[in-house]
Amino acid sequence: MSKIRLITTGGTIASSRKEGSDRVVANVSGAELKARLHDPLEGIDIEVDDFCSVGSFAFDLPLAFSLAQHIDTVLADAECDGVVVTHGTDTMEESCYMADLLVTSNKPVVFTGAQRHAGDPDTDGPRNIAEAVRVAASPQARGLGAVIVFEQDIHAGREVTKAHTSRVDTFRSNGYGKLGEVDGKNVFVYRKPAQRFHVDAQEVVPEVELMKLAMGSSPAFLEFAVARGARAVVIEAFGRGNAPNGFADAIAPIVERGVPVIVASRCHEGRTRPIYGGGSGGKDLADAGVMFSGDLSGLKARILASVLLGRAEGMDQFRRDFERAAGISAI
Ligand code: ASP
Repeated sequence: MSKIRLITTGGTIASSRKEGSDRVVANVSGAELKARLHDPLEGIDIEVDDFCSVGSFAFDLPLAFSLAQHIDTVLADAECDGVVVTHGTDTMEESCYMADLLVTSNKPVVFTGAQRHAGDPDTDGPRNIAEAVRVAASPQARGLGAVIVFEQDIHAGREVTKAHTSRVDTFRSNGYGKLGEVDGKNVFVYRKPAQRFHVDAQEVVPEVELMKLAMGSSPAFLEFAVARGARAVVIEAFGRGNAPNGFADAIAPIVERGVPVIVASRCHEGRTRPIYGGGSGGKDLADAGVMFSGDLSGLKARILASVLLGRAEGMDQFRRDFERAAGISAI
């Protein structure tokens, strides 16, 4: 008999519209989610663990950090074979990547959720939980790191993103592809992530901002964020990692003060690299002291920065580890 812990956090999967109210809120317990499963999941024992009950748009970095710590504690129990975390889809990829970076166990950590709430007669929640449980109970899922299982597909926490606001097959690993899939009672793993990185963080630093650049953006938001106490800033720049005029000059004194500025891309695939000049092209930004996020999206680069800052390490180590986790130290 496999033993799987079902850790619930709220989200659409555990939400419904209360009678007399015009809004959908998280109000369904873990015990109810378990009771509503259609799949008997023979040979698998599910233990419910209600961690919190919020829409994932209300998650913050300290809550995601304590969720990852909780997962690690649960998996330290020799009796537990894996965990399933039910979570809102809005920020699931961020909590999942944080768990991927922090959890020490190689047992399966599987996030899932739903796009159609628990009160919807056609909710996708029960089948997603059942498939997530099958993955968590599968020896094949060991060593994959934290994954999202959704609409039969298995995605790596480092690579996955929510791609559609409402479709049930919202999760994609653009440019990478899924790790595997669930087909009925069977779990198929096709590949294992080769870019995993562990961070031994004592805490998370939530003051890490993310800003997206547009044609002609000014660096005013960046300067404002730093003036308000940001400890690192990720900018989603253009293409290979280029910015509008003025950014290189604004970034240099910020980096000099010890605040890392990280350059990700607005593109959904590929990696940032210093190539162009011309004012605030990637080479100019590199000269100003930025770090490049490689193939990590802006969202994932922010999560990585927030946990790397939560260690008693200086900036040189931060840069070395950031570049290793981003896969660019090998370039
Ligand atoms: N708004 C919801 C949330 O993230 C969306 C979902 O769960 O699918 O909590």
